[in-house]
Amino acid sequence: MNLAIILDMVADGSDGRVLIGDRAEGMTAAALRERASAGAARIASAGADRLLYLGPNGPAFPVALFAATLAGVPFLPLNYRYGDRQLADVLDRQDDPLVVTDDPQRVQDAATISVEDFLSLPLTEAAPLTAGEIDAESVAVLLMTSGTTAAPKSAVLRHANLAAYIFGSVEYGTAGEDDATLVCVPPYHVAAVANALSNLYCGRRIVYLDRFTPEAWLDLAERERVTHAMVVPTMLVRIIAELEARGGPGPSCLRSLSYGGAKVPGEVVEKALRLFPETGFVNAYGLTETASSIAVLGPEDHREAASSADPGVRARLGSVGRPLPSVEIEIHDEDGRPVAPHVVGDIVVRGGQVAGEYLEAGRTVRADGWFPTRDRGYLDEAGYLFVRGRADDTIIRGGENIAPAEIEDVVNAHPAVLDCVVAGIPDAEWGHRIGAFVIARPGRTLNETELRAWVRERLRGSKTPDQVIAVDEFPTSPTGKILRRELVARVESATV
Ligand code: ATP
Repeated sequence: MNLAIILDMVADGSDGRVLIGDRAEGMTAAALRERASAGAARIASAGADRLLYLGPNGPAFPVALFAATLAGVPFLPLNYRYGDRQLADVLDRQDDPLVVTDDPQRVQDAATISVEDFLSLPLTEAAPLTAGEIDAESVAVLLMTSGTTAAPKSAVLRHANLAAYIFGSVEYGTAGEDDATLVCVPPYHVAAVANALSNLYCGRRIVYLDRFTPEAWLDLAERERVTHAMVVPTMLVRIIAELEARGGPGPSCLRSLSYGGAKVPGEVVEKALRLFPETGFVNAYGLTETASSIAVLGPEDHREAASSADPGVRARLGSVGRPLPSVEIEIHDEDGRPVAPHVVGDIVVRGGQVAGEYLEAGRTVRADGWFPTRDRGYLDEAGYLFVRGRADDTIIRGGENIAPAEIEDVVNAHPAVLDCVVAGIPDAEWGHRIGAFVIARPGRTLNETELRAWVRERLRGSKTPDQVIAVDEFPTSPTGKILRRELVARVESATV
């Protein structure tokens, strides 16, 4: 199976409906295939061995993705937020790339083509490759990891991984004729690839929003009668704030709103459920290395948890749901053995969509077939997965391993605290000191001594924060991940 077969299925099965962009003037799947074929011919004539994309979150994205497939080269969307050094570092790792970009001066030594030219290349008779000629095990997409916890690496996704995700998570042709999805995730993120493929595959029109603002998102959702959307946590928080300021509910046309990519606090989800009474919510958990989602908390789960009096069921609002049918998820101890429900350990996953491979480091799947996500978490007795943070965020204080999430839960329960992030601050004597970065509730002031005593009473003394640092907000990546390293760096250079 490969992405060209999916493109053929979509183009042959969608009855000429517009599947990308504006309903009246957008692109049909047949036009997408033509544009992709023309793009593939251009890649071949340029002699390129990789198609890089430094363009908008728009129709050119799926065209470029499929053009690379039809040319038999990997597609690598680049992070437009990279500084010049980071961009140069990624470009240095390429041999003969062709870059689709409106910013040619940023990629000076590489062959480039503008987004407009790429979308209007002359049609060719045939694609350089047909679906039958593409090996399922060849590389379809390369994605740079964001480097939240480590230096960026090039994650490899093969056709078979992406096909397994699509076939495992979406039913072909299930969307109604009027269904439309609003996509505004950054093009360099795995969610952009997954959204393009899964929406096209189920026959749902994609409406792109290049630059997110809550106003633009809400206006576009209303105007295009959007039925589905996916947002990262920071977007969800900003949409909620905008709706609260407007004093009104979210667009009633929206039947499904997915969020994920980083943890969303339970109270944000509860607010969202109140502000979008007509909308089903989906929390999706996944990694670049697993070709996006591997577990989801669906609309029924959200409703059941939100209305349940049983604390165990209610707690599921803070879970990421259950594994997709296409994967298995287990929690392992440090010897790689499964642990009992509610015991925190390493989240491991296996299944066809799990790539776990990097150009720089090869395959990191264990010999027993399990891929360590490097996330810590637990399963409840009904199989709901709770993510408790990244293994790399573990604080090692005086030789003791401490999970930030445990302390965060206790600090967050304090009435003066709106939100808290706990992180290890490097220390010559202890290895790490525990830093609690705290946002106060409006109108409340934080008292360090009181907060430390609050934690000491509820957890062991060694888990008491050594330092409480008041902040106004947490720095986040474009996909909503809290940048702990940045918070710690601020303490180290004493800028907070
Ligand atoms: P790195 O930090 O290693 O550079 P990255 O930031 O590029 O990688 P991604 O693949 O974008 O990593 O993100 C995957 C991680 O995001 C997961 O391992 C998990 O920690 C977090 N994550 C994703 N979805 C959710 C979710 N729904 N709830 C909580 N955390 C999530």
